[in-house]
Amino acid sequence: MEGKRVIGWLARDPSGHLSPFSFSLRKVEPEDVLFKVLYCGMDHTDLHQIRSEIHPPTYPLVLGHEVVGEVMELGSKVKKFKVGDIVGVGGLVGSCGECFCCISNMENYCNGRIPTYNGIYKDGSPTQGGYSSAMVVHQKFVIKIPTNLALEQSAPLLCASVTAYSPLKQFRNSCKVMRARILGLGGVGHFGVLIAKAMGHHVTVISSSDKKRLEALEHWGTDDYVVSSNVAEMERASNSLDYILDTVLVFHPLNSYIPLLKIDGKLILVGAASKPLQVDPLELILGSFIGSVKETQEVVDFWVEKGFKSMIEVVKMDYVNKAFERMERK
Ligand code: NAP
Ligand code: ZN
Repeated sequence: MEGKRVIGWLARDPSGHLSPFSFSLRKVEPEDVLFKVLYCGMDHTDLHQIRSEIHPPTYPLVLGHEVVGEVMELGSKVKKFKVGDIVGVGGLVGSCGECFCCISNMENYCNGRIPTYNGIYKDGSPTQGGYSSAMVVHQKFVIKIPTNLALEQSAPLLCASVTAYSPLKQFRNSCKVMRARILGLGGVGHFGVLIAKAMGHHVTVISSSDKKRLEALEHWGTDDYVVSSNVAEMERASNSLDYILDTVLVFHPLNSYIPLLKIDGKLILVGAASKPLQVDPLELILGSFIGSVKETQEVVDFWVEKGFKSMIEVVKMDYVNKAFERMERK
């Protein structure tokens, strides 16, 4: 059933042009929060989406997934918010609620997750985002915004910032100084720098140009700054990094970055490059290269312990060429 009429800024086609349009929100159900939108972030994903570079959109489409607003109305079962509260909504407005991901606070990985826009809600209606005068969202997907946080500051925390925070959180309690490179000093990238520096990491920004050097070093307090085309500087970091946070949204050669990681170093890819990124398996297997001498002894002993038999074929030496021929054809 239809609810409140609102004004949204709609994309009607991939031209990228938005225009105002009146549409109806869904009716407020018992677990829903209706809020007036006060601020909404603009994230590069919105641009990818409107240009149909990712997940082909269904038009008309109301973008916006970093939404901050003031509660106007609550469903009968909502107890954690009150009218007048400042709340936020990020990239999700629904999920199945039952799977392992959902019951483990990882609903962002649920197969039934419902994006804030360009998704289909449980009632069959298309989801529409925060470039709108109001929204209705299930309480589970509504975040409380503390009163001491500036409203406009809180909007990008709801997607860009949590995108950097979620993977970096794993390093929070490490007692050693992590060495990191952050690729791309844009929205997500600068949040990555702030979060990594706050965790005490040694952070180098890799940027596509020299333009942001001063900003990175003086404003964001990064430890080093490298332009990605500077091959000598790039190679200097070989085999030294605990992680790379990659926020670059265009094609870029991962092969220049993978050798910079330490054994067990992590490549954290969050940028939604619109072309497939290629990986040379020879670079990757250096992170999974054979096993140590100790492990070789261990596997031999393990074989004996388990009584395993491998599938082998014994051949005479003069059969070697035939054997390679057969190997190739398998
Ligand atoms: P953004 O503010 O536009 O920043 C992207 C950065 O990429 C730029 O600042 C730039 O940094 C770098 N870049 C390198 N080559 C570029 C080129 N040819 N054109 C434009 N930028 C180039 O974007 P964002 O909002 O941070 O988003 C970054 C990516 O993350 C997007 O693909 C977005 O969709 C994705 N994202 C993913 C998630 C997720 O859940 N995984 C969430 C949010 C966003 P330099 O100037 O330093 O080179
Ligand atoms: Zn689920």
